[in-house]
Amino acid sequence: MVVHWTQADDEMAKQSEKVLQRLNEEGFKAYWVGGCVRDELLGRAVDDMDITTSASPEQVMGIFDDCIPTGLQHGTVTVRSGGYYFEVTTFRTESEYQDNRRPSAVQFVQNIQEDLQRRDFTMNALAMHVDGTIVDPFGGQLDIKQGLVRCVGLAVERFGEDALRMLRCIRFASVFDFSIAYNTWKGLVNQRELLQHIAMERVRTEMVKMMAGPHPQKGLELLFRSKALEYVKAPVDSNRFNKELLVGLEHLTGEHVLLRWSCVLLAGRYTREEADKLLRQWTFSNEHRVRITGVLQVEELVTTFVEQRVDDNLLRENWIVTVLSCGAQAANDWLILQKQLPQKWRDSSERAHEQMAKVQTHAASWSKSMPVHEIKELQITGEQVLQLVERKGGPWLGQLMKHLLKETAIGNIMNQYEALCTEVKRVTANDQV
Ligand code: ATP
Ligand code: MG
Repeated sequence: MVVHWTQADDEMAKQSEKVLQRLNEEGFKAYWVGGCVRDELLGRAVDDMDITTSASPEQVMGIFDDCIPTGLQHGTVTVRSGGYYFEVTTFRTESEYQDNRRPSAVQFVQNIQEDLQRRDFTMNALAMHVDGTIVDPFGGQLDIKQGLVRCVGLAVERFGEDALRMLRCIRFASVFDFSIAYNTWKGLVNQRELLQHIAMERVRTEMVKMMAGPHPQKGLELLFRSKALEYVKAPVDSNRFNKELLVGLEHLTGEHVLLRWSCVLLAGRYTREEADKLLRQWTFSNEHRVRITGVLQVEELVTTFVEQRVDDNLLRENWIVTVLSCGAQAANDWLILQKQLPQKWRDSSERAHEQMAKVQTHAASWSKSMPVHEIKELQITGEQVLQLVERKGGPWLGQLMKHLLKETAIGNIMNQYEALCTEVKRVTANDQV
């Protein structure tokens, strides 16, 4: 009997079914469980399929040749079948949570109901048998139909056992566009202080999933309302955000999803420095941190130069200097973000608004007009400059190379050896006067 998985890869569904059947043949109970069953019912893509069984980890390892003892103390063995990996976890209950995060002991049990009872939300406490019947002791299917995130059991207790569940709750409500059941929300607000016990890495993982989903603004609204982020180890104050800036978040998609973070930080009036510090505390990778904060660096430079009284040419020059100091990617990211922000959101003078509008209209073509972006692209090397002026190297050389880069990028000088030599001589001659 083949159960029809519409949202999972056919081969993955088939291989997981083989694992279930094998466990059944050996006399054990076995089910698909948790996220995969939920996602199938929701009509969302199923990426991985977890299995739960009455067999002990040792028994699982005895049955399958190709397996990895992933987390024996928690009862998890990874079974490989046809190139797919499945986490097979023994039915268990949990008890004695330490520091509101992880269970200090697990007990293996014989009953699927008991296993489902330890799970966080009703929609995640679902199991499916090979024959397609669904085990749903807490009304998870109804909650899915009604679009509700609801704790299994008493919310205050469940959030007290493991505080991360509060952020999972908000993440699921945001990603699925679900409401949060009244008592679950009350429990969350009641227990939010316990978030201080959760490692920022785990907090970040939830927040990244939430922000990458289809309704990030909804998630942020829930975070603001619950004030949950004010209690994590690296806290964020809900009051600092200009919420009007968040309306276009969901339009930043695909390769631009990371810019949602830049947008949030901008809305939170973070300087680049503050943002950099926060993202370090939140354990973002260097690559992501640099990309996210690059936008704030551009924002700082642009808002400064549009306040000055400059003509169009100078505006272009200022933009090019900004591109040189922040990098082409940051400049481009900044421009993309602008398109999702409301008009005139900045608290600046009317003239600055006009200048800003000009920058936004022309920046892309100004960027395109730049023949060079880096010193190494110049048709003259530092070595050659030294020979030309017969001086010892020093900080002046770096300054001079930067000057050459700027003049070339703007188009005042051609990127040609002769032209660059002429400029080097002109500048150094002036220096000596
Ligand atoms: P996704 O994979 O989309 O993040 P998921 O529900 O599959 O969602 P996992 O972290 O993969 O989440 O966990 C698998 C299952 O384990 C969940 O569906 C849930 O039943 C259970 N689970 C996960 N984390 C917790 C937790 N903190 N407390 C209780 N049960 C949990
Ligand atoms: Mg999962």
